[in-house]
Amino acid sequence: MKQLTLWELPAQNTGDGKPVCAAKGVGTAPATGTAPAASAPVAPAQLDALLAQVIAQAQALGIPVSKRIDPHVRLNTRAKKRFGCCIGSVKSGFVIELAAALPAAGRQTCMQTLAHEVLHTCVGCQDHGDRWKAYAARMNAAYGYAIRRTDKPENLGVTMPKHTPVYHWRVTCTGCGKSFLRQKSSPLIKTPQRYRCAACGGKLQVEKLG
Ligand SMILES: [Zn+2]
Ligand SMILES: [Zn+2]
Repeated sequence: MKQLTLWELPAQNTGDGKPVCAAKGVGTAPATGTAPAASAPVAPAQLDALLAQVIAQAQALGIPVSKRIDPHVRLNTRAKKRFGCCIGSVKSGFVIELAAALPAAGRQTCMQTLAHEVLHTCVGCQDHGDRWKAYAARMNAAYGYAIRRTDKPENLGVTMPKHTPVYHWRVTCTGCGKSFLRQKSSPLIKTPQRYRCAACGGKLQVEKLG
């Protein structure tokens, strides 16, 4: 299996190209002095217009963003660790994805995240290398963004969905009936006969959950 880096978490695949950026948080901290309107929730339907605006901003600075960016922003309801994602290639074109939690954080956060991803569509900018950084710095200076390689949800006013734990094992006491769940195997799971219930001293039973 391919070793995934922080910025290449498995993206929901379009079947067309691989994610070039799936940043674990992208630089979108609200700029200081942000007008209240900038943090008002954005309707998902507005995102395409914001994307067009961000692309125009980059072009106004002479930043050579791809001409083949899908004008429709996709929302990813399953994203837990990344705010945005740029999927595709210079050859096939790009799709920009935002975490579904982002619109609630407001316009500024959405635009900065879109800008972060749009910069990845430039030739030679599929990583967070010097060229990408230079473009990000230009966008930040011109438009008051704070595009960074990564950022924390709390800096952005974003509430990301919690990772839902998946439990594979249930351990039950045959004495008192107390039970608890475990996500991973462990000596207790493998050899429950060597353990006893902490509450009553009863024997423990392990059950594999479906
Ligand atoms: Zn990125
Ligand atoms: Zn017990």
